[in-house]
Amino acid sequence: MKSRYDVVVVGAGPAGSITAQTCAEGGMDVLLIEKRQEIGDPVRCAEGVGKDALIKHIQPDTRWIAAEVKGSRIIAPDGTRILMSGDAAMKDVGYTLERKVFDRVLAQRAAMAGAEVMVKTRATGLLRNNGRVAGIKAMYMGDVHEIKADIVIGADGVESKIGRWGGIDTTLKPHEIEACVQFLISNFDPGEYSEFYLGEKYSPGGYAWIFPKGGRSANVGIGVLGSKSGNIRAISLLSKFIETYIPQGRIVEIVVGGVPVTGPIKQTVTDGLMLVGDAARQSDPLTGGGITNAMDAGKMAGEVCIKAREKGDFSVRSLKEYEDKWRSTIGKEMSKSLQVKNLLLKLTDEQLNQLAHSLDGVDVSKMELGKLLTVLIKKNPRLLWGLRTLFK
Ligand SMILES: Cc1cc2nc3c(=O)[nH]c(=O)nc-3n(C[C@H](O)[C@H](O)[C@H](O)COP(=O)(O)OP(=O)(O)OC[C@H]3O[C@@H](n4cnc5c(N)ncnc54)[C@H](O)[C@@H]3O)c2cc1C
Repeated sequence: MKSRYDVVVVGAGPAGSITAQTCAEGGMDVLLIEKRQEIGDPVRCAEGVGKDALIKHIQPDTRWIAAEVKGSRIIAPDGTRILMSGDAAMKDVGYTLERKVFDRVLAQRAAMAGAEVMVKTRATGLLRNNGRVAGIKAMYMGDVHEIKADIVIGADGVESKIGRWGGIDTTLKPHEIEACVQFLISNFDPGEYSEFYLGEKYSPGGYAWIFPKGGRSANVGIGVLGSKSGNIRAISLLSKFIETYIPQGRIVEIVVGGVPVTGPIKQTVTDGLMLVGDAARQSDPLTGGGITNAMDAGKMAGEVCIKAREKGDFSVRSLKEYEDKWRSTIGKEMSKSLQVKNLLLKLTDEQLNQLAHSLDGVDVSKMELGKLLTVLIKKNPRLLWGLRTLFK
């Protein structure tokens, strides 16, 4: 580890590794640090991604694809099932990843592009010069190192401290975070579809999921909205869900974690600093999916870093291009999702059942989510009035 780099990236998740790779490919001198000793482990994810969104960044590889899924099934509180499959739906659900391998492969690609990768290295603070961010303090093997950089990238996930240290408000209020718990369940055949169970019956303000993981196993989890959880513990809900639907299942792994569901936050750059991925709260507020948004944002951040170096300007004005780019792309989708989520949160289980029944006789099998919502709005204008301008 040197004492100076062009760019220091904190966190080797998908956001950090793609940023590091992009910067290194652009000729920048890059350090990527990760506090854990093994990149990608422990996993804090259900590992579901859309095919199209993923292959923009990396070609599918059997080393890190645990299962290919044919589509998704949405289950209303009364058990009514809506099946979405075929090419269109594959945009929404395509693979269950093996993130322990996937994250490592992304970091290796950054390394092969020229980035230096340091594991077991934790950022503990920021360096400043004339008020602007000018590097980090990092703990490695018990020693604190000062590492200077033109720019620091905070890709340190949902618990991000980099933003806060840099003066950016990334606070998550209880209604802006889903508390999730997930078991990797073996000894049952989940089929070839990802399943989403909606309604208070399963989870207040969230949903339960079953994502096939291959080899007679699946990621089975539940997310509960912080503001709606009260005394309810996500793990109790999940245990009940499994007793009811997968009594023969055997738990072989437990995952706990939070998912930011804020929608686009106000600020993600400051002088000498950018936030990407979960650190920038860029996950989808409706589904909680954040892997491919993190990768998209990482790519945009890397490209803007390269331009900033060409200009010799890492000020907030120069870095704002990143913020404009992500807001006009993934940010737009996040805003739509937030509106859908906020409306769904107001619906009772009865009303969710009503929505599901309104699709009786409609062939939704080849529809993607946007089209499905358009049909639902047409059939249920009173319930979904607030969404009428979103999906036309
Ligand atoms: C239970 C659960 C299920 C989910 N399911 C899905 C899903 O099915 N599909 C989907 O798309 N998304 C899902 N997500 C969200 C997804 O996991 C995240 O959006 C995604 O990992 C974000 O990537 P990232 O690179 O921004 O952050 P992360 O993947 O969280 O990476 C951040 C990295 O920074 C490191 N780090 C943190 N602090 C420091 C520090 N001070 N110094 C050095 N390193 C540091 C961490 O160790 C970590 O490796 C799920 C999340 C949870 C919790």
